[in-house]
Amino acid sequence: MKENILHNLETIHARIQKSCEKSGRNPNEVKLLLATKTVSAEQIKTALENGEFLIAENKVQELKEKYNDLTNTPHDNHFIGHLQTNKIKDILKYDVVCVQSLDRLDLAEKLHQRLLSVGKTMEVLIQVNTSGEESKFGVHPDEAVELTRKVSEFSTLKIKGLMTIGLFSAEIEKVRLCFKILKNLQQELIRLDIPNVDMKELSMGMSGDLETAIEEGSTIVRVGTAVFGSRIYPDSFYWNEGV
Ligand SMILES: *Cc1c(COP(=O)(O)O)cnc(C)c1O
Repeated sequence: MKENILHNLETIHARIQKSCEKSGRNPNEVKLLLATKTVSAEQIKTALENGEFLIAENKVQELKEKYNDLTNTPHDNHFIGHLQTNKIKDILKYDVVCVQSLDRLDLAEKLHQRLLSVGKTMEVLIQVNTSGEESKFGVHPDEAVELTRKVSEFSTLKIKGLMTIGLFSAEIEKVRLCFKILKNLQQELIRLDIPNVDMKELSMGMSGDLETAIEEGSTIVRVGTAVFGSRIYPDSFYWNEGV
């Protein structure tokens, strides 16, 4: 088990390195985030004790379950799942440093109110639905600028960039189109230069499409199965919490 994880991590880093070389990018610009849904705290620790630092859960329940086992192992925890407003308290309690799945105004409002009341701030990425698939959350690309503007007015929310889940397709050029949409939005938002909006991060690319995402400008690739093996639940289970 441990050997598998270490071997897989090596493979992933080599893939990142290679795509960076191919597209003339510095590998230091691309962070590896481990998507740890269904993965045990023990397995996560193996990765964290061997050079990894950035992990993310989709469900608050799993965040909670693994929290104690991971507190003594240095790491940053992001949240990448659909976040219900009644779970905001837990996101703060379990030390999430960035919500990558901010996709609607009422969530931003409630997150802001909670953060204000406890005197904290939170990094966020605006999640955009670039694939047009109904099963995925995220703001429509046409509404992303307006949402970003509104979220930027909440002083406790620190916008760091954009996130998307690419289309699931073996046709890589269709997947690439999703990443291009996100990159274009990033460029547009940089031009608009909205106060309190930092557009440094583009979180895109997963086990199957990280090369394409890096070629299109990804700064955070989110990888699960290529490191920890396949999961028993379909991804739709994780992308549709509460609906
Ligand atoms: C599970 C998940 C990933 C990682 O997917 P893999 O195909 O296992 O690499 C990335 N992003 C999100 C939002 C996820 O839920």
